[in-house]
Amino acid sequence: MNQSNKKNLDFIKSSGINYFLQDSPRNWFQSPSNSHTKLLKDINKGKFDKIKQIIEKINSSNTPLKNSAKNLVVYDGSLNAKVMFIGEAPGRDEDIQGVPFVGRAGQLLNKMLSAISLRREDVYITNVVNWRPPDNRTPTDEEILHFLPFLQEQIDVINPDFIFLLGGVAAKAILSTPLTLGKLRGTWHEYHSLQLNKTIYTIASYHPAFLLRSPQYKKASWEDLQMLQKKINEKN
Ligand code: URA
Repeated sequence: MNQSNKKNLDFIKSSGINYFLQDSPRNWFQSPSNSHTKLLKDINKGKFDKIKQIIEKINSSNTPLKNSAKNLVVYDGSLNAKVMFIGEAPGRDEDIQGVPFVGRAGQLLNKMLSAISLRREDVYITNVVNWRPPDNRTPTDEEILHFLPFLQEQIDVINPDFIFLLGGVAAKAILSTPLTLGKLRGTWHEYHSLQLNKTIYTIASYHPAFLLRSPQYKKASWEDLQMLQKKINEKN
């Protein structure tokens, strides 16, 4: 491998992105190599350690979902991201690889990102629930509430400017509302972090898995993505 390719690869790895480098499940607790650690320290200034602590807390917290799932699934992308994408829970492929949004829905998410000039390594991707529910069933309210504090802590560490909620479970968890996506989408919401003392502009839109089943909603999803792109451009 030539040096510039190696540098690129190191950079991508240090950003946290894993989806195309992964050939075995992610081991969240393995210490990165020295050069990797140095890059992470330079780039992420302590965020990596804080996220690692949250991952340890998730891993040691008690939930029956652990008994049926294979691997813990927490995040992919960049710890320095200004945009956070939050989905529902890992599916089969994510459970096998230990990385969120790597299956068919993840491939569509990659396309959605690229349509607004973002790459996976530019954003932070996570889920409300971090263990796969059996048979991909929708997480219960109890499960959502179990994992919510860990998600809120991740938001506080990442400190994004924008949050994009993928699907009804993420919308329910973060916006604390029973309203349907049909009512919530197409407009900006505010998520208030007490820890950061900051309001984060948030969009709730359709989940990529839903869009695969119901492509007629892609137009609305595209409008929501364009709202995000416009706000990002205004900020830059
Ligand atoms: N669906 C989700 O909500 N999250 C994933 O990681 C994969 C599919």
